Amino acid sequence: KVDEPIAINALKRFVADWQMKKDAESNLSTLSSPLPMNSSQFKVAIIGAGPAGLTCAYELTKLGYKVTVFESSSKAGGMLTLGIPDYRLPKELVEKEIREIEEQGVKINLNTTIGKDLTLDDLEEIGYEAIFIAIGAHRSKKLNIPGESLEGVIDGLSFLKRVNLGKKVEIGKRVAIIGGGNTAVDAARSSIRLGAEKAYLIYRRTKEEMPAILEEIEKAEEEGVKILYLTLPTKIMEKNGKVSGVKCIPLVLDGMDTG
Ligand SMILES: Cc1cc2nc3c(=O)[nH]c(=O)nc-3n(C[C@H](O)[C@H](O)[C@H](O)COP(=O)(O)OP(=O)(O)OC[C@H]3O[C@@H](n4cnc5c(N)ncnc54)[C@H](O)[C@@H]3O)c2cc1C
Repeated sequence: KVDEPIAINALKRFVADWQMKKDAESNLSTLSSPLPMNSSQFKVAIIGAGPAGLTCAYELTKLGYKVTVFESSSKAGGMLTLGIPDYRLPKELVEKEIREIEEQGVKINLNTTIGKDLTLDDLEEIGYEAIFIAIGAHRSKKLNIPGESLEGVIDGLSFLKRVNLGKKVEIGKRVAIIGGGNTAVDAARSSIRLGAEKAYLIYRRTKEEMPAILEEIEKAEEEGVKILYLTLPTKIMEKNGKVSGVKCIPLVLDGMDTG
């Protein structure tokens, strides 16, 4: 349709799927090859195996540097593996690309948190001459409303990480998701997939202001997520120490609101 945003995510997925199918048919790698394997002795440490760290590792390896990536999680890929749900970005696609990066000579050390298991000074002592920090933004924002620490309340990223790592998550039948970004929409759609009978997405502005990808918002609505626009949570209600509801107030969009 004319005058509608392009579904970038769907296009990316289409191109990636097409490329993967083509590679499988011709037994080719998606990455250009061959690359020079560690022709330099110059050692580089990269902290974080998300898209930023892995792309940097790949590009430096192409230039002949000896690269090691340190990743705190048990899996590489950053948010592509830990945040974005499988139905939107198949894990085998991410895993395949990571394997190909490793095949170029990049070493990935999993379960290694820099700042805990090793310090930046340790890395320098080991002989790394440059360090690239690509640790992403993994801390969720707090709402700062009463009831946030009740049993049954979980931040969106921790929830999606648990789902992505195949860990058990108890969500009950009625779920409220607060926020309007990709994390909120992914959490809402994942809740439906985990068996929630009702999933309410509570967002303080209108659909036009929602930062999540439009196509994802529409898919969430199609799947049964009920979006409450112009709605502000003020308190998380409690019953027997557990979450029992969310108290909200309706809002009116103010032209002066830039937050
Ligand atoms: C739910 C969700 C949905 C999204 N949807 C989209 C989308 O549809 N389209 C889009 O373009 N973008 C999307 N994004 C954003 C995208 O995922 C990020 O922009 C991208 O992953 C950022 O890459 P990064 O490498 O900077 O960080 P990350 O992907 O966050 O990777 C950082 C890595 O560093 C590791 N790390 C952190 N601290 C340490 C430490 N001290 N030592 C060792 N390792 C450490 C982490 O474990 C992680 O693996 C989404 C994000 C989320 C959370």
